[in-house]
Amino acid sequence: MARLTDTILLDGAVEVPSARFGSYASRLARVAGCGVPVPVSVAMSIDAVRGISEGHNLDVSGMLEAFGENPLLSVRSSPLRSEWGGSQQMLHVGMNESVRKKIAECLDSDTATEQFLRFVYAYSIRVAKLDADAIDDPEKVDRQNAGENLQQLLQLYREETGEEFPETVSVQLAGVLRSMSDSWESTSARMLRMAHGAPDDAGLGLVVQQMGVGCRTCGHGRASAIDFATGEPGLHGSYSSLRPVPRSGKAGCNALDGMPPEALHHVSQHLVLLQHCNRDPFEIDFTVEGDKALVVDARPAPRSAQAEVAVAVALAEAEIIEKPEALMRLEPDNIARLLHKQVDRSRPRTVIARGIAASPGAASGAIVFSSAAASKYAARDESCILVRVETGPEDIRGMHTARGVLTGRGGITSHAAVIARGLGVPCVAGSSDIQFDPCLLVLKDKDGRVFREGQIITIDGTAGEVLEGAAALVKPAVNEAFERILAWSDEYRDIGVRANADTLEEVRAACGFKAEGIGLCRTEHMFFEESRLTVMREMIFAADIERRRETLEKLLPMQRGDFLALFEIMSGNPVCIRLFDPPLHEFLPHDPDEITELADAMGLSARLVESRVEELKEFNPMLGMRGVRLGITVPEIYEMQARAIFEAAAQAIRAGWSAKPEIMIPLVSANKEVILVESCIEAVADQVRAEQGVDFRYKTGVMVETPRAALKADDLASNSAFLSFGTNDLTQLTYGISRDDSERFMDIYVKRNVFPDDPFETFDQDGVGELLLLAAERGRRANRDVTLAICGEHAADPATIQFCRDAGFTYVSCSPFRVPVARLAAAQSAIRATDVKQKCHDSK
Ligand code: PEP
Ligand code: MG
Repeated sequence: MARLTDTILLDGAVEVPSARFGSYASRLARVAGCGVPVPVSVAMSIDAVRGISEGHNLDVSGMLEAFGENPLLSVRSSPLRSEWGGSQQMLHVGMNESVRKKIAECLDSDTATEQFLRFVYAYSIRVAKLDADAIDDPEKVDRQNAGENLQQLLQLYREETGEEFPETVSVQLAGVLRSMSDSWESTSARMLRMAHGAPDDAGLGLVVQQMGVGCRTCGHGRASAIDFATGEPGLHGSYSSLRPVPRSGKAGCNALDGMPPEALHHVSQHLVLLQHCNRDPFEIDFTVEGDKALVVDARPAPRSAQAEVAVAVALAEAEIIEKPEALMRLEPDNIARLLHKQVDRSRPRTVIARGIAASPGAASGAIVFSSAAASKYAARDESCILVRVETGPEDIRGMHTARGVLTGRGGITSHAAVIARGLGVPCVAGSSDIQFDPCLLVLKDKDGRVFREGQIITIDGTAGEVLEGAAALVKPAVNEAFERILAWSDEYRDIGVRANADTLEEVRAACGFKAEGIGLCRTEHMFFEESRLTVMREMIFAADIERRRETLEKLLPMQRGDFLALFEIMSGNPVCIRLFDPPLHEFLPHDPDEITELADAMGLSARLVESRVEELKEFNPMLGMRGVRLGITVPEIYEMQARAIFEAAAQAIRAGWSAKPEIMIPLVSANKEVILVESCIEAVADQVRAEQGVDFRYKTGVMVETPRAALKADDLASNSAFLSFGTNDLTQLTYGISRDDSERFMDIYVKRNVFPDDPFETFDQDGVGELLLLAAERGRRANRDVTLAICGEHAADPATIQFCRDAGFTYVSCSPFRVPVARLAAAQSAIRATDVKQKCHDSK
């Protein structure tokens, strides 16, 4: 027999631990604890529910005491995590002929009979386990026939079970509790929740809750204290009336303004109270009983990335929370979502359908109806929009590759909406304006116009619109709240954030996002432009050193101009320029047509060009003639680059700007390489100073990308102002995995848990991280002033930023659009460290 101590009244008087009673019970107790009225509710512990399924007898009479005479009850699942499932809510427990009559008196006979029929149907299938296929679904039954259907169902129940349908609430409740606890233990439920990460012994709590007897119940709804998209305070939601409402004359789903005014006032008071109590805007599910609204569930209001920022800023500015808490509440990756494209609403556009604005941002692409089709488009580097009636786990791959998602069913919390928001992909959900025929691969708008697979549409996930063709998009709007969060981040962070940028657009973007300098300018990217490529190729094909110098002379003014522009835009912030890094063959033509074209342009024979290409071929170019090895064997290239940097610095200084060049040597593995290159750079610097009569300053440093460089960091640091970890190559060389070929097996490796993650995506703190720590320690031991930095792709990841900050690095450098993310993540890592320090101090 389940003990009474295994049940608890959720009146807010005591804390109800979710570990014992499940999350719903705990949540509802907290709502009541805030002084917000909830229906009378009794929670049954996880142990008690388990006891029922183990065959223990159950005494429900104690539990029923809380509900008074002839109650009408609902029973809801309360697992520890909502995603672990649990049976669907059971309504109208306690229903019998006399309750039906009472409801019929104050509502109407059809509604009362319908409610009874629904309960008998649910009870017959879920508790008495009658064959569902043999019974008509009451949802599909005509209202007028409900009475007849009810009698037939009661007859069937009698025949199948050999008993009358139970009349008393205690028998009904005992049956419902038992069936819900049994279904939790079923194999399919177990497998389903384990797929969501539930442990083998995960338990279920249950909550028995009073329902309005029908006479006083007017309807139910959901309301939020903020606008989902913007975070603006205001009452939003929907209300479903059980009675005809004056405006439409029909019962159904309406905006909140269809509610009785007193109840609406209540709802808004509850939201204020919950926000005050939890220091966060809330969303509630409620029922309206007479002129009162009772809260049946509550949670922090769901919000878009933009709203998340707006709410955090508003709470901090109202001094409800402190700035560090505002920063800690934000998901750094969400910040990136604020940077999404939006539809230009000032331009003409044709709306073909409307739906729910489920995930902000906008994207255009070809209609596809399956993940497989989405992958084909992605493989061709063409954008597509995944169109589904509704999505499920099998669509996740397609959602990753598509630029946007459109569904015909589902709302703001549907699978498509939740996943799209998580991925930062624009999504319009539940567009009932459109008819889908995924078999014929067409969709029809409400005017009957047909759109086929491959036709271009635009998804506006911010406005909830589907547009014909590729609409004009505007660049992301970075608003005041966004700027405020980043400004606050800068107050708290104690690690620098620079950008990896080489084109003028990137450098300007970096500057706009307030990067504190360029941490990696990949100079080879400056040569890929058509006109420069030819000169570069001439240099590669130069017959001797003189000819090479001649062509480098042509490249010099181009590079000088590049660097001058960088110094100007970065106005006084350091610019770290990496000397030429890739293997030369990357610049060479490979197919016969290209070779002939180049030969003609250079006045050489195709055969000569071909043989030079052949000569430059390597078995393993990424491990061959590249980086500093090129700088030592063909020193004229680095000389030209050093001269371009220094001449640009001199010119900048003469123009009254401050230029802070830093020169980075790539792919170093031995100190001698650094000594040779640095002495060459120094000689060029002296020459330029003498020629220009300007005294500029510069720093040189090493890009630590080989395990040997990490191991010999002490030697390298003694000759260098900085060590910057290139974790792309360092990961490649530490694992011995080609960064360009790993996708062939990486998926399988990750799926089979050989590696926890793809180390090129998620920084391997365990292995490569150890090399960083070791190099940092050795480097600092040899040169306590050495600057430590990271500039591989991992540098934008919040976990890596925490790692580098804890290791005492000076800055991280990432792509310009990740700079805001890095600024917030850096602040969070500093705040976290202060909290840990404070805790240690308090515990002393
Ligand atoms: C690196 O190797 O981490 C790096 C930043 O350089 P690249 O990606 O250009 O090789
Ligand atoms: Mg590299």
